[in-house]
Amino acid sequence: MSNTTRRDQRTGFRSLPSIDALLRRETIQGLIRVAGHDAVRNVLRLVLADVRREIRSSTLGGEGVALNPLPLIEERVANALDRKADSLMQRVINATGVVIHTNLGRARLSQAALDAITTVATSYSNLEYDLMTGERGKRGSALEAMLSEIFSCEAAAIVNNCAAAVLIVLNTLADGGEVIVSRGELIEIGGSFRIPDVIAKSGARLVEVGTTNRTRLSDYQKAISPETRLVLRAHPSNYRIVGFTETASLAELSRLARENGLPLFEDLGSGCVTDLSDCGVGGEPTVAASLRSGVSLLAFSGDKLFGGPQAGIILGEARLIDLIKTNPMVRALRVDKLTLAALEATASSYARGQANEELPVLASLRLSLSELTHRARGFVRRAHQHSPELDLTVIDGFSVVGGGAAPEAKLPTALIRFGCGETPVNEMEARLRRNRPPVIARVVDDQLVLDLRTVTAQEEKEIIAALSTCTSA
Ligand SMILES: *Cc1c(COP(=O)(O)O)cnc(C)c1O
Repeated sequence: MSNTTRRDQRTGFRSLPSIDALLRRETIQGLIRVAGHDAVRNVLRLVLADVRREIRSSTLGGEGVALNPLPLIEERVANALDRKADSLMQRVINATGVVIHTNLGRARLSQAALDAITTVATSYSNLEYDLMTGERGKRGSALEAMLSEIFSCEAAAIVNNCAAAVLIVLNTLADGGEVIVSRGELIEIGGSFRIPDVIAKSGARLVEVGTTNRTRLSDYQKAISPETRLVLRAHPSNYRIVGFTETASLAELSRLARENGLPLFEDLGSGCVTDLSDCGVGGEPTVAASLRSGVSLLAFSGDKLFGGPQAGIILGEARLIDLIKTNPMVRALRVDKLTLAALEATASSYARGQANEELPVLASLRLSLSELTHRARGFVRRAHQHSPELDLTVIDGFSVVGGGAAPEAKLPTALIRFGCGETPVNEMEARLRRNRPPVIARVVDDQLVLDLRTVTAQEEKEIIAALSTCTSA
């Protein structure tokens, strides 16, 4: 190291202010008012450590910076705090056309669900209070009665999510005993929810039957022993075995289970409540069909096709649901009042026969190709007026249901393909993502596309504004 470099370093270190001196500066005080004292101090420490390291390795460009590092430090602190604030949850525009997008928060709630949340969040409520008797009431009992009515089943129970539902059902009914599952259904559904692991955690032992692609009724039959407590059927969600396959039907399986005095439990995952075959989502088992087939219990998610908040909905025989409710685990897995309020409002849309109109998930799935084409053309016209340099085309394509439901369903849609001069696709994708509000687009065959199926009319305007900033960037 030359003497000049060493002298530069000494000057650099000497010019670095102390944390306390920095915390007293007006700009930093302004950041403290927005982000809080501790957050700013912690970020300052990290930034100062970086600057020291850069002085030591002489990567801090220019003598000027080393002599007066203050503007650089303040800018870096402000940027780091911005990034931190930006990582908090915020609204994003889902232009992917994936209706139940787990990474983007799954179902959007109905207006009625939002109103219900606001009401119970800002007031006291009869959450656990019986207004008729003035005595303690049961949380969620009205909702459970409503769900039993909607699905014509004996009883219902609500827990935190479908994973919790599977766990508590298995723990209640099969702890210490055996659970029979087809090898074709030993699935992982993302977020590290793996059926074999959940069975192990429930205290039950997994008995695998059949093969990955074929499991016959006789395979189940042979596996039944005095240790068997339950037969499990799991919806394969995002995964499909195609070709040379065979599975026992739910009706056959439930007959076998009943003959052997065993409960049959189905993990439906998405839980298709209404028949969606007319909008291109065929083959998805409905909740009602499963119940008719004679399952003893089933569980599905509140925030997938049901279109409500995160929850696990368990339906079936009252005798079994009563057992689940006496499991101490149920207290640990219970939902909060905001979730209950939103679920009640969502269930009420079904009870009134208004689900298709009121629930955003179903309304999105039911948007017709002609409607989407009309919207896409209008969008392109307005976007061209706004930014004539954009290259926008309406093309045929497909939307995706998401949430593990009907992975092979093809919902016809009108995609808006766009490009801007020579800007690479991934660069455009990143610019839209970094827009505020972020716009999440989809890349199909190395082309960037927008699908208005998951976009509101108001959001269309924001996307058009985002596109124009992206092209001028
Ligand atoms: C999505 C899914 C789950 C988990 O549901 P959460 O509500 O997210 O806990 C469980 N089983 C299946 C088959 C699923 O598709």
